This record gives sequence, structure tokens and C-alpha cells, in this order.
Amino acid sequence: METTAVVLGGGYAGVMAANRLAASKRPELNVVLISPEERFVERIRLHEYTAGTRKDPTVAFESLLHPGVFRLTDAAVGIDAAARTVQLAGGSTADYDHLVYAVGSGQTKVPDGALAISTRAGAEQARGALAALAPGSRVAVVGGGLTAIETAAETAYRHPGLRVSLHAADVPAPRVSAGARRGLARSLRRAGVEQRTGTPVSPSGNPRAAADADLVLWCTGFSVPDLARVSGLPTDHAGRLLVEPNLQGRGQPRIYGAGDAAVIAGPDYAYLRMSCASAMPMGAEAAANILRGLDGLPPVRHNSGFGGQCVSLGRSDGMVQFVRADDTPVRFHLHGRLAAAQKEIICRMTLRWIRGEAKRSGAYTWPKGPRMRTAAAAQGEAPALS
Ligand SMILES: Cc1cc2nc3c(=O)[nH]c(=O)nc-3n(C[C@H](O)[C@H](O)[C@H](O)COP(=O)(O)OP(=O)(O)OC[C@H]3O[C@@H](n4cnc5c(N)ncnc54)[C@H](O)[C@@H]3O)c2cc1C
Repeated sequence: METTAVVLGGGYAGVMAANRLAASKRPELNVVLISPEERFVERIRLHEYTAGTRKDPTVAFESLLHPGVFRLTDAAVGIDAAARTVQLAGGSTADYDHLVYAVGSGQTKVPDGALAISTRAGAEQARGALAALAPGSRVAVVGGGLTAIETAAETAYRHPGLRVSLHAADVPAPRVSAGARRGLARSLRRAGVEQRTGTPVSPSGNPRAAADADLVLWCTGFSVPDLARVSGLPTDHAGRLLVEPNLQGRGQPRIYGAGDAAVIAGPDYAYLRMSCASAMPMGAEAAANILRGLDGLPPVRHNSGFGGQCVSLGRSDGMVQFVRADDTPVRFHLHGRLAAAQKEIICRMTLRWIRGEAKRSGAYTWPKGPRMRTAAAAQGEAPALS
């Protein structure tokens, strides 16, 4: 009997899931990938594209996807879980037997007068605005996370004639060790980035006036599409699809969630941050659980962890913070050219892992997660919702 798996979202999680399903060589399984972009967007390189270091942040889907994946360029506007259909912006409807919800994330609300770089469209706009600035103009990067730090350094190196500042409400890079943070501050100084720690820029009001800048790049975190919420599916406060430890949607065994747009409920998985590093394992695991289901086997709990946090600071400097499986930093961290090279290798490996999965279902493996703290999670049971 024919079975259709629909994957919503052509990012790291969605493409990995589609490949694992399609490469499993099951003639009865149709795999459909629905995404609004014509090409795969390497989001982890959008700061490079914004600054002008990289010409194109996209890759042809054909070079990444298993040839058996049927790709539809459209966006989902609603999911009817009872009818097992997805309504598309183009007016048509897609039927599914199994759904992978992997619609990713974008920028949190951006104030008027600032630009965000976390989507391709935003990065393109910011790139144009940066290129149009006169020498001596001031660029403020708002945010204290790794994306803001990478954007500030990349911009300063690529545009030495501009005055770049980083505005963090609190300590920048709060998740790395104190030693790694000191190294990051040194690198930013070397790049010519003025660090204004403890100077939050209010999202209400005029951000350019508040930051005393000609251009403001808003890098304060990600938010997710409201597709799950408007479809009446269980979500957390941020609108992420709530999934069980085995990645099945709460009360929705036919829907799996993966990547930034999904969250595993409960404290045991709180260490999983929105990242490419967790989106790919989640995508692969969601697909593997669908395949297990087709074989009459129960789904297994998701098990992924981290190995390091890699930051590029321009093209010849970087920082790698080695971490435990639960993403907490250890003392060991790398800086300089070696770290920059390590980050570049990781960026290239992401595409290689995706392509490897297109060749052989199950080829991609990932670091395992920490030991589960609650017995329920260890057995893959759903935690109670508070
Ligand atoms: C500048 C920058 C640097 C980063 N660096 C790193 C890094 O070094 N390491 C790291 O781990 N992470 C990094 N990240 C974060 C990382 O890019 C994301 O966490 C990752 O892209 C999440 O993958 P995803 O597949 O869940 O979503 P995405 O990659 O966002 O893909 C989601 C897909 O869903 C599609 N979509 C959206 N809405 C719909 C809809 N309604 N219907 C159908 N499709 C839809 C989108 O078009 C997109 O194709 C960085 C992010 C940025 C912006």
C-alpha cells in the first residue's frame, strides 16, 4: 500500500529528514518536500552573505536531495491533523500519512528602522544597506549571542571603513566559559568592533537614534512561524510544536517535529538549543521513527547532544568552545586561525552530511545526548506539562 510522507520546510532538519526517508529504498513510500524557497538556504552563512564575504548563501536543492524526493515550492498555511491534509498558500492541498514539521525559525520582532539578517530576504536587504553606507558610517549590531558576535566581526573585517559596534544587554556569549569569552572580546577588539556591553537597545522607539548609528542590524534571537498554533496543534509559549521525546507531536502520532520549530517538552531536553547542530539529528531521527513505524516497530526517543560551539570572527579568526553533551562548556577552547578553519570545516560538513544521507539512508550519525535525569524521559515517555 502506498504511503506518503510530507516534509514541511526545506532547511537543515527538513532536507535531512526527506533524504533519510527517500534513500530508504521503499517503493511504496512517496516523499514530498514542501518549502517556499527555490534553493536551499545555508542559514549558518547568512552573516557572511550580509557582510559581503560570500556571494550566494544558497545551494541548489538538486545537489542535496535524493532524486526520489518530490519537491513542491509553496508554503503551508494550515494543517488539518484530523483530515491529514496540509493547506498551501498556492491554494492546493497536500494529503499525508506522515508529516514532518520542520518550518524552522526567523528573527524575533524587528523594530522599524533596524534590519535582521536571520533569513535570506533580511540578509539581502542588510547586505545592500551595508554596501551603500559612506565611509565612516556607524553600524550597530544589537544582540549578545553568537550570531550577533559573528555578524559584528564579519562586518568589521569586510568593511574596514565603517565603525562597527556590538550592543549587548548583558554579558555577550553567556554560554561559553569565562576564558573563551575573554578571547572573544580580544578578537572583537582586534577586528575593530566597539563593545558596548550593558547597553540594551530598546525594541520600541528609534533603534538608530538609541544606538547612535546609521544602520542597525538586529540579531537578538529567533522566533518561529505560527503555523502549528493556527492549526490548533499543541505548542509552547513561543509557538513551537510540542513533541514527545520520540519527536511525535503531542497527541499527534502521525506528525513529527524537528529543528527550530519544534520543542521536546520537559526539563530533560531543555539543553537542546535552536541550532543547525540539533536540527539535523532531529530531522534524521524523525525520519527514522517514521521508517520504524512502517516496519511495525515503535518509535525510539530522540538522543542527540553537542560537541562544541564554533564561532567565525571574520575569515581568519574564530573561537571553538568545546562542550559536554548537554552544551555546558568545558575549560578547553580554541582561538585564532585554527578555530576559524574548524568552523569552516563544520559549515562544509553540514552539506556533506546531507548529501551523504541522500546516498544512503542512515549514513548520518551525531553526538549522543546527556544521560536523562528523569526515568520517564529515559524510557521515552512524555513528561507532564506544567
Ligand atoms: C547568521 C546565522 C548563523 C548561524 N550559525 C549557526 C552555527 O554556527 N551553528 C548552528 O548550529 N546553528 C547556527 N545558526 C542557527 C541555524 O541556522 C538554525 O538553527 C537552523 O537553520 C535551523 O534549522 P531548521 O531546519 O530547523 O530551520 P531552517 O534552516 O530555518 O529551515 C526552515 C525551512 O522551512 C521553510 N518554511 C518556513 N515556513 C514554512 C511554511 N509555512 N511551509 C513550508 N516551509 C516553510 C523555510 O523557508 C526553510 O526552508 C545560525 C543562524 C544564523 C541566522
